[in-house]
Amino acid sequence: MTGNIKDYDGTDQGVLAPEERVGYAVVGLGDLTEEELYPAFAHSARSRLGALVSGDRDKALVQARQLGLSEGDVYSYEQFENLKDREDIRAVFIVLPNSLHREFAVRAAEIGKHVLCEKPLSVSVADAEAMVLACKVAGVLLMTAYRIQYTPHHQAAREELHSGRLGRVKLMTAVDVQTEPQGGQWRLKRELAGGGSLLDVGLYCLNTSRFLTGEEPYEVFAYTHSTPDDPRFTEVEESVSFTLRFPSGIISSNFCSYGASKHRSLRVLAEKGNLLLDPAFDYTSLRLKIDTETEVRELLIKETDQFALELDHFSACVQSGTRPFTPGEEGVQDQRIMEAIYQSAREGRPVQLQRFEGRDVFRGGPAAPVERKRS
Ligand code: NDP
Repeated sequence: MTGNIKDYDGTDQGVLAPEERVGYAVVGLGDLTEEELYPAFAHSARSRLGALVSGDRDKALVQARQLGLSEGDVYSYEQFENLKDREDIRAVFIVLPNSLHREFAVRAAEIGKHVLCEKPLSVSVADAEAMVLACKVAGVLLMTAYRIQYTPHHQAAREELHSGRLGRVKLMTAVDVQTEPQGGQWRLKRELAGGGSLLDVGLYCLNTSRFLTGEEPYEVFAYTHSTPDDPRFTEVEESVSFTLRFPSGIISSNFCSYGASKHRSLRVLAEKGNLLLDPAFDYTSLRLKIDTETEVRELLIKETDQFALELDHFSACVQSGTRPFTPGEEGVQDQRIMEAIYQSAREGRPVQLQRFEGRDVFRGGPAAPVERKRS
């Protein structure tokens, strides 16, 4: 990539032929990769899966065959640098346990590959900043894979709030809870996960509040709780309740947990009505309702593969050399806020954050436009 990184302008470049698409190596072949990302590549318009990086060669070879890839497209973690010679692979998609994101983002940058990294960007502000720096120095793009910010339902919700039709927003409440961490048990190990329900699912509440308001919180107050004697929560927390204060006066009240029956919703209370996303954070079947004094309306929005949307956004950025809507800096800011949330819970007091004015201060240009069936 040459030249300065510009903001992505959201221009749709249509469906590309396989040889014109951005080639990716996926790093880490766990649940998310197998269940969501392989289908997302199949649904994408400008992204192509070209290589697999895994610690389990047998599994990787089976998956490669199923995907139409060859034995030569399978790499171990130790062989990662061999991707340097693969000119058809321009980007890596890091889908590893959280604490390994930094190492592979830096290694990818060092061999000149653009980096799409799963959330949370990393396990600390220091790690996340190191990833941003490594990509900057190498002149490659870094995007935090925040699928919610590319999802038509959330874009429509944000558009509704920013239009002013509901008046000033007073309160947002978001909940993301489930009875177990889903996927690998590494989520219960501090060394690999970096934290508990906050980094895994509470991040959706946090990041979506920031996305919908477009603002940055300047103060947080939080509690954490883990059921005593529950062996799952000896290293990471079970539940977190946290409140964010935004410059325009909006209060965002959030709860995440690994210990309650599945529920994922987000409600916004505003002067002239309220808005409800329920479910709010699932991969499919999202619902968006708007309730005012004169009408109750459900916006029927065409559902699209959320992972394909984020993937294609990044591919468009790689092809045009533009800054993604959710660059590394967007992930770093969430990491700062999560560290403040833990600090607040530890110290039992509100924690101040650096104040930022204006909207979308950490984001790049717009994501793809909303496509609506009818409303
Ligand atoms: P899994 O446990 O299902 O898979 C992780 C994979 O990482 C493993 O299968 C393994 O792949 C590889 N790995 C390498 N080292 C280790 C290690 N020490 N312990 C365990 N696995 C290791 O996790 P997920 O796929 O659910 O999550 C991966 C990442 O994706 C996380 O950062 C998570 O937060 C994120 N995620 C994002 C979602 C979203 O909606 N955006 C949803 C779910 C997860 P291999 O055998 O090939 O080496």
